[in-house]
Amino acid sequence: DTAAPIAMVAPLARRSRQARIVWGSRVVTVGGDAPVRVQSMTNTDTVDAIGTAIQVKELAQAGSEFVRITVNTPEAAAAVPYIREQLDRMGESVPLVGDFHYNGHRLLTEFPDCAQALSKYRINPGNVGKGDKRDKQFGQMIEAAMRWDKAVRIGVNWGSLDQELLADLMDANSQRAEPWDARQVMYEALITSAIESARRAEAMGLAGEQIILSCKVSGVQDLIAVYRELARRCDYALHLGLTEAGMGTKGIVASTTALSILLQEGIGDTIRVSLTPQPGEARTQEVVVAAEILQSLGLRAFVPSVTACPGCGRTTSTTFQELAKQIDDYLRAQMPVWRLRYPGVERLKVAVMGCIVNGPGESKHADIGISLPGTGEAPAAPVFIDGEKALTLRGDNIAREFQDIVNDYIAK
Ligand code: SF4
Repeated sequence: DTAAPIAMVAPLARRSRQARIVWGSRVVTVGGDAPVRVQSMTNTDTVDAIGTAIQVKELAQAGSEFVRITVNTPEAAAAVPYIREQLDRMGESVPLVGDFHYNGHRLLTEFPDCAQALSKYRINPGNVGKGDKRDKQFGQMIEAAMRWDKAVRIGVNWGSLDQELLADLMDANSQRAEPWDARQVMYEALITSAIESARRAEAMGLAGEQIILSCKVSGVQDLIAVYRELARRCDYALHLGLTEAGMGTKGIVASTTALSILLQEGIGDTIRVSLTPQPGEARTQEVVVAAEILQSLGLRAFVPSVTACPGCGRTTSTTFQELAKQIDDYLRAQMPVWRLRYPGVERLKVAVMGCIVNGPGESKHADIGISLPGTGEAPAAPVFIDGEKALTLRGDNIAREFQDIVNDYIAK
């Protein structure tokens, strides 16, 4: 009786400055009090304007709140306004982000229509140029951002780290009485590259609010170490992602592990899950995974969640697994309409369970739950609504009848 109640552990909040990514009347805020945003990137050749526009729309419809496209050649830069036009024609106003490397200064200067059609520029300080040219070329990109009033992500990646900066830091490290190890010097180089570039952009006149930083690495523990320190040293909005996370389960688990730990600490204002699609796999999967991470942490809600047990020796068939999948697919398919018609529907919780052991209990915790009969149980499926047993389904049409009950509940 004297013990204090156990509080739920809510994610911490890190106060960051808020960037605005704008296209027409659509404004996507990042940082500050904005929800953590989901973003993605196309893998089409940007010169293929129609193919790129179609994939951008698919990613946007899957939940990507802004979409990055590669802008790597004059032909790609020339295609950007046309991609934007196609999207606008399709009624898709998702903001576009241009990904620039090596020649971004030239493309943004020589293709003003491209610079205007994009809503944000990604600049990699590791490859904006070498020696004397570096500051000038970086400056040209910042000038374009100021001229067209665009947000900028200064995106450092350990695969393309500024080698001159790294060499300087290694020299300085060798003078230390107790030198850091190579990994610690690399962490420092990533963070220094991002923050010094941001400060340089601010010194040129770009508002700090319009700067988003990222320091991507492909190791989970490395990412956690780097972002904790990056978050401590600045209040810029942070783009969070494990770069080159890999394929399939490995990529999903590694991204989820790293991002969840940091998001729980309040670190990360927008996330990208970088999955390598397997042959035949949709590019949109990484958007679904990113949304699931945020929803699992309770940071956002995108679609009703379906709780289902794994099944075991007590389940007599795969009926409950089929029902769980059917309901999950159905709820997701309805969301484009339901989101508009029934605000808050994305917070709905549905349970589909395999037997009496945890079935009724789990179903009572959900808004609507069904407990299918396991081995030796009577062929009846009690349905629970708002924590109370409401009715029992029997026979061959349980799936259809349960779907109707879910529909009625949502409509009410
Ligand atoms: Fe097995 Fe029943 Fe638990 Fe499902 S609820 S895992 S069927 S014991």
